[in-house]
Amino acid sequence: MISLLTAQDLPLSAPVAPQDRTLLGGTLAASMERMIRIAVDGTGATSGVIALLGNDRRCFQYGHPALPWMAHDCGTLIRCGLLSLTVENGGVLSIGDAHEFSHDEDVRRAAAALGVGSLTSIVMPRSDGTVLGMLCVFADAPRDWTEVRMRTLHDVAEMASTEVHLRRALAERESRERQLQHDSLHDGLTGLPNRSLFMRRLSDAAQRVKRGDDSLFAVLFLDLDDFKQVNDKYGHRGGDEILIETARRLGDCIRGGDLVARLGGDEFAILLERVSDARDGAMVADRVQAALREPFVVGSCSHVATASIGVVLSSSGTFQPDQLLRNADMAMYRAKSAGRARFEMFDRAMHADALARLQLEQDLQRALDADEFELYYQPIVSLATGRIAGVEALVRWCRQDDGVASPGDFIPVAEETGLIVPLGRWVLSEACRQVRAWQLAIGQAQSITLAVNLSVREFSEPELVSQVSTILADTGMEASALRLEITESAIIGQGHPALQTIADLRALGVQIHLDDFGTGYSALSYLHRLPLDAVKVDRGTISIIDREERPLKVVQSIIGLVRALGMGVVAEGIATPAQLDLLRAMGCDLGQGYLFSPPCSAAAMGRLLSSGQTW
Ligand code: C2E
Ligand code: MG
Ligand code: MG
Repeated sequence: MISLLTAQDLPLSAPVAPQDRTLLGGTLAASMERMIRIAVDGTGATSGVIALLGNDRRCFQYGHPALPWMAHDCGTLIRCGLLSLTVENGGVLSIGDAHEFSHDEDVRRAAAALGVGSLTSIVMPRSDGTVLGMLCVFADAPRDWTEVRMRTLHDVAEMASTEVHLRRALAERESRERQLQHDSLHDGLTGLPNRSLFMRRLSDAAQRVKRGDDSLFAVLFLDLDDFKQVNDKYGHRGGDEILIETARRLGDCIRGGDLVARLGGDEFAILLERVSDARDGAMVADRVQAALREPFVVGSCSHVATASIGVVLSSSGTFQPDQLLRNADMAMYRAKSAGRARFEMFDRAMHADALARLQLEQDLQRALDADEFELYYQPIVSLATGRIAGVEALVRWCRQDDGVASPGDFIPVAEETGLIVPLGRWVLSEACRQVRAWQLAIGQAQSITLAVNLSVREFSEPELVSQVSTILADTGMEASALRLEITESAIIGQGHPALQTIADLRALGVQIHLDDFGTGYSALSYLHRLPLDAVKVDRGTISIIDREERPLKVVQSIIGLVRALGMGVVAEGIATPAQLDLLRAMGCDLGQGYLFSPPCSAAAMGRLLSSGQTW
């Protein structure tokens, strides 16, 4: 069926759409004009028009050299309804004498005004039956549109349709290919170049410098700080908005010729072509920080972002694109651990560190497979009775050649690599097994408790609660005897899931203790909002209470507040009898420290428990 068109569907001399200009452009015009010329010359007419509709909206015309004005003005005829009339007439409309044309007064008047004596118009159909456009030829005097002439016109209309159809298909294919090409090199969310395109450009820059171009280039590796919290706070859509806006701002921080790419997640990279020295990289890093400090508006909230940035120069010793990016990443990591919201330049020392770290990662993995870990235990003493109330399990790594490593040396790396998860699971089950054995075997140890540390990563494992429950069941350990120690960083800024995990663990009957309180940014104000069972006061604060007035007051207030909130207090790192006396006098429940015992092997701990020693 041919769909009926109105005059609005046919804007003559419509502007050429950009895609037509580049793909079809002048060549379509030339071939359409050639077709009209064949139609005009082959029928002895004076001028003609091909008008295309829909996506192809354009108008082409050809006038007999003696009457060039005519073709131009014939557009008016089409606009005043000729196409609709043709469609209504079954797709062809031949008017031998336009002056006597009585079907449509507008067409008759327009024809008279233009000096059109006769005309034929033919609809050009698409393969799906809709109207692609029309071919119209005009003569200045009345004439007979013979069968031969009409056949010529039909042939030309068909050829023109085919031509447009082919070109359109070709243009669409090219545009699809271009889109695919673009998509494979760009990030869908921000539209920025992606990692592949960045690596390509980085490799080009490296080639250039290798060939002897004496300028340098720099790579900046940028990671937004605390982006996880951003997503938690504003939802993924809010997070996306911030990423899009970040991409835009980063674009404003660089010069033409430089490149910003999104590597994935909240990681971006910048390639600065032609820098003179490290200061140029530093300057851009500063500019980026300043750009991010402008508040982002997310819904009705305003968010200030910062980034940790690593900078590497092409003079740093490698031209390998992936090595360069890795080095910039390493410097970024350094900036993160140095407190975020800053940049670090990559240097040789960092390289050596990185190698050592890599080695440590591999060793840790191997150690896990080779059972090189051992648990030490440190007693936790009831200050009221002086008896051992429980033990804290503290992991040690007995390295084949390097002696015993302390958790401080390997827990952070295990945490970053995720190895902490299997390691932590082993710690928990081994400690539960051991303590249960003591409870059953040693009379004085019947009701001792077990404290186990959980790192942030372990605490945010979705499987944590079910694993704890399984381990308790497998080892026969009472849930009420288990204390899981977490630090503020596991809760603060982690939002709802952390509180839910605490609630689920407590529902099992396990107690949650807040470890190392008094380090970092501990604030008394949030304690009442957290569902905790006890707070462990950091040994840094405890170690000076017998020497200085202020820490003593601080500990006194912490104990007062924590107890008022119905929670227990454990003092860590008690090292002198004076400290013990003070803490006892302040009503602190439990204590731990070298004064009682340093962490010791399971065998030594077993002996200590059996001895029934008190303090
Ligand atoms: P933490 O949980 O605060 O453990 C107490 C740390 O203080 C232990 O260090 C212990 O040896 C030390 N300590 C106890 N009393 C004294 C004292 O009187 N003076 C001094 N100077 N130090 C004392 P350690 O064993 O090196 O453990 C360090 C940290 O490593 C632990 O701090 C804990 O956060 C982490 N950690 C230990 N084992 C594990 C584990 O199995 N899993 C996880 N995730 N973290 C662990
Ligand atoms: Mg602890
Ligand atoms: Mg502690």
